[in-house]
Amino acid sequence: MQENKVELGGDWTYAPAPEDKKHVKIEKRYDLFINGKFVKPAKGKYFDTISPSTEEVLSQIAEADEKDVDTAVKAARNAYDKVWKKMPAKERGKYIFRIARMIQERSRELAVIESMNGGKPIRESRDIDVPLAANHFFYYAGWADKLEYAFPGKKPQSLGVVGQIIPWNFPLLMAAWKIAPALATGNTVVLKPAETTSLTALKLAEIIQESGLPDGVVNIVTGHGKTGAAIVNHPLVNKVAFTGSTDVGKIIQKAVAGTNKKVTLELGGKAANIVFEDAPIDQAVEGIVNGIFFNQGHVCCAGSRLFVQEGVAEELIRKLKDRMQTLIVGDPLDKNTDIGAINSKEQLQKIDHYLKLGSEEGAEMYQPSCSIPSKGFFCKPTLFLHASQSHRIVQEEIFGPVLTVQTFRTIEEVVEKANNIPYGLSAGVWTDKGSKIFNLTQNLRAGVIWANTYNKFDPTSPFGGYKESGFGREGGLHGLMPYLELT
Ligand code: NAP
Ligand code: MG
Repeated sequence: MQENKVELGGDWTYAPAPEDKKHVKIEKRYDLFINGKFVKPAKGKYFDTISPSTEEVLSQIAEADEKDVDTAVKAARNAYDKVWKKMPAKERGKYIFRIARMIQERSRELAVIESMNGGKPIRESRDIDVPLAANHFFYYAGWADKLEYAFPGKKPQSLGVVGQIIPWNFPLLMAAWKIAPALATGNTVVLKPAETTSLTALKLAEIIQESGLPDGVVNIVTGHGKTGAAIVNHPLVNKVAFTGSTDVGKIIQKAVAGTNKKVTLELGGKAANIVFEDAPIDQAVEGIVNGIFFNQGHVCCAGSRLFVQEGVAEELIRKLKDRMQTLIVGDPLDKNTDIGAINSKEQLQKIDHYLKLGSEEGAEMYQPSCSIPSKGFFCKPTLFLHASQSHRIVQEEIFGPVLTVQTFRTIEEVVEKANNIPYGLSAGVWTDKGSKIFNLTQNLRAGVIWANTYNKFDPTSPFGGYKESGFGREGGLHGLMPYLELT
């Protein structure tokens, strides 16, 4: 394994601080979790899952086909009709609480596996992904028996079987975002994790099995895009909840058109991070780095477009470059690592394509002089200075540690530029003035807007987008609604 080293001026470097993985148990092979049991896929097919930081095979994952999906959906329907729908809400809540506690108990193991399989730094998986996943279960457990209070005057009713499809950037957390509110509202679940990051979802299946949750209430089927499509198209699925790319979101929307399936789509993003002249510059630099570089830019709400007011542009860019010079790219299991591995070879190729494109389009590329490991999929943090609104690197989602930089003079100009893209998931504003924050929260077309901070999440707070970033909200009270019929 390549050692992390960073020059701190003079001869100072960080010594490697790798997280121990001895306590982690990864099976050689994982089957499908259907009706409370791990079962072999009908066709007996498996595919390899690797560590993107070492390229070693970690395990083999079952590939579910239409027949397996059918078995899972029928198990979910049966569990809904015979057990889950009839169970008093207070009892349902107890199971959800139990799952939350078990995630906490196994948090270290889950964090290490998340970093091994997904490539994200252990600091992120340990301090963000896993605690937030547990918190989502805790939060929604609390709502299970209080739905009438959540929607006064209405009669909240569950929908039935929900099909849930999630991406690779927050594997466990996205599973929690999906499963917890579905269970709290009395639905049963068939979930498909992304093909590159199935391991923590399968660990969650083990936790669910141990928790004693009635068989069939949650089913986890692994596979590729076709497995996802089989869930979406199954006639017994009452609702589809999808997080992923806008392209696949559009396919799903077409597939459910004309059926009475409910659907929510959480799709891509291209967030503006806006720094005004009166902003605390050092704090903003840290927020920019957190917004796009930590987690390799594998965040749908990543602050991937920086807008700086002209008067502070020079100072801010100088400080940002200095800060980038200290970022450590390398082993995801090292506690000092800031930027881990890109999730897959395909994703790295996509990012590389945009790096080439940005230079061809005329933007000026800056990368720090850090080294990157020779094995695995890694990318240096990258700035594109003098980017302009028409550049594809500004308009399109790159999903990597790549930040475009544009300057602006007036608030009207920056609002216009920030809004002038197909996405509308999130944004950030850095200023000393509350009035500017209010102005921007009114005028930016983004579902989430952070002020003087970035990428902060809480289960009580709704999350979701406008325009091609999708529709429907997850988290908070709003996150219950897509799983209920409110009559
Ligand atoms: P993706 O290719 O759209 O895949 C998402 C999930 O859908 C995966 O499980 C995928 O399976 C599955 N899938 C692929 N084709 C399908 C089909 N035809 N029908 C049903 N399911 C299908 O997205 P990704 O590349 O994994 O993730 C990155 C994208 O997710 C980015 O665009 C990002 O912005 C977005 N994202 C959005 C949010 C949000 O909350 N708005 C959060 C996280 C990520 P395979 O893995 O086998 O391809
Ligand atoms: Mg995909």
